[in-house]
Amino acid sequence: MRAAVQPLAGTAKAREVVGLGAGGDQTIYLDQLAEQIVLRHLEQAYRSGFRFRLISEELGERDFGGLPLVLVDPLDGSVNAKMGLPYYAVVLAVTDGDQFRDVRLGYVQNLVSGEEFHAYAGGGAFYQGERLRPLEPAFDGESIPLVQIDAPSGSDPRERASPILARAVKVRQLGSAALNLCHTAAGGVALQVTPAPVRAFDLAGPLLILREAGGVATDFDGRPIDTTSVRLDSRTTLLASLSTQIHALALQLLGTRVA
Ligand SMILES: [Mg+2]
Repeated sequence: MRAAVQPLAGTAKAREVVGLGAGGDQTIYLDQLAEQIVLRHLEQAYRSGFRFRLISEELGERDFGGLPLVLVDPLDGSVNAKMGLPYYAVVLAVTDGDQFRDVRLGYVQNLVSGEEFHAYAGGGAFYQGERLRPLEPAFDGESIPLVQIDAPSGSDPRERASPILARAVKVRQLGSAALNLCHTAAGGVALQVTPAPVRAFDLAGPLLILREAGGVATDFDGRPIDTTSVRLDSRTTLLASLSTQIHALALQLLGTRVA
């Protein structure tokens, strides 16, 4: 995928709109190309005896003879890829059911650097094949070292997050929800803030990586998201951190009573 996608990033060809994806976003040529590559590998897996059901961002659902569900976002951060900004990823999850808590494998690869994150439910989180050893973000009880916010244009979602942003030393809006959560799991992003609902599907694998790294994630109001559906029509807000103290401070700043 890296060999095929990376050289095209930022080109006119990459940006061509080729249709509308099952996830509801426009499909550009790069999304389609990335999906075709994933599909080719899954077809090969099927021929060698694996049985599963694919849900992919562009093509929707396809039956490969059984379960589990294999969730694929072939290109997360596709606007970055389209514009030639080097921060986008392929995202996979394997799940026994259709809720976050059912996910048993998560995999994210940064298609620019080749860095890989993965996790097994109950088996830990890994970076480049080695056990992920996250560095707990420094926290003085007052300020949050680095906040990563995902908010669509328009002032409202940013306004909802403004009490948190006021305590942030640094703020980023990097553009790949999956990579953002991996870096939250690694401790580089101290707090991931998603005040407006985003597609839950893209978060399934990355949230397992965060959980297995020891992190905590709720929705923006502090409610658990374990039973949130991972299907393409499901959306959720998010507040995630490796540090339970930073997460608790964020909820406190938002005026949410911590359970
Ligand atoms: Mg995508």
